[in-house]
Amino acid sequence: MTDHLEPKGSVLETVGRTPLVAINAAPESVPVYAKLESFNPGASVKDRIGKYMLERMLERGDVSPGGTVIEPTAGNTGIGIAVAAGQLDLKAIFVVPERFSVEKQQLMAALGAEVINTPSAEGMGGAIERAHGLAEELDNAVVPQQFSNPLNTEAHYETTAPEIYEALDGEVGAIVAGCGTAGTLMGLAKYALEQDPETHVVAVEPDGSLYAGTKGEDVEEAEYKTEGIGTHDPTTNELFEPDLVDEVIQVTDRAAQEELKRLASEEGHLVASSAGAASIAARGVAERIEGGEIDTPHDGVVTIFPDSSERYLSKGIYRSFEEWEG
Ligand code: PMP
Repeated sequence: MTDHLEPKGSVLETVGRTPLVAINAAPESVPVYAKLESFNPGASVKDRIGKYMLERMLERGDVSPGGTVIEPTAGNTGIGIAVAAGQLDLKAIFVVPERFSVEKQQLMAALGAEVINTPSAEGMGGAIERAHGLAEELDNAVVPQQFSNPLNTEAHYETTAPEIYEALDGEVGAIVAGCGTAGTLMGLAKYALEQDPETHVVAVEPDGSLYAGTKGEDVEEAEYKTEGIGTHDPTTNELFEPDLVDEVIQVTDRAAQEELKRLASEEGHLVASSAGAASIAARGVAERIEGGEIDTPHDGVVTIFPDSSERYLSKGIYRSFEEWEG
């Protein structure tokens, strides 16, 4: 699996082929496995799309070496794109609303990227507009736009999914993953449903997010602290295809934080809130499979742990629920 023993020519070659590890607090007859994406060089699942999108865009001629990649992003995607851009002779510019975590912005800058801040009041919409404006001003510049770019989904269909199926000899009964852009879940779902159309596919979001509304559920919008997953407006999450999803599970911030703390203290995982939410949801699905409530072609449940808690220490991720800034 993590066959990174042979010498590599560049850090880009260490993206992917992350470990798949059993979650111990799972029902005995239905194993739950988590793919540990913090093992990527930029320490998150987004290294996969950074590498995949830029390589395909270079191949297609959307941008050529020496050109510029501009992405409106406040998070892991910026780091993933910055890692890849640096190795592929591309400049990277990230347009980030001011209020977002300074840690991630520092990492993007350390990787050689330029960070441009837009006023917090203009939100992500303001950052997106600015990114497209910049791309028009510059020669040889491209905006990958992870929220609408099919290459995001394709990266997971081509890499994350086959790795999981190889590791488990195809014995996958359910796929449970958090949805931000939904690229991860959609890539996994497409691959899984090709292997067996009966595979149970579950989207995970924080309580207060609105993906569940796309499955006809009456959900109420609210703020949440869980970072990296959820949406306040599913029409902006263009990659999400409700038809590929059997159910959307909502997890409260409290439950996600309790679980990420439990994962650290009991199982040695230093993972963040979206992984806490995914873990709780995946364990719940496993219990329902064990109880005969959900029929799956195999027993195994697979989920994704997208990044590490170290990226959120300054936000008090391990403090009390009230002290955690989210
Ligand atoms: N967790 C974290 C911490 C993330 O940064 C992201 C990406 N926004 C996700 C989960 C969800 O991944 P995706 O965008 O592929 O749905």
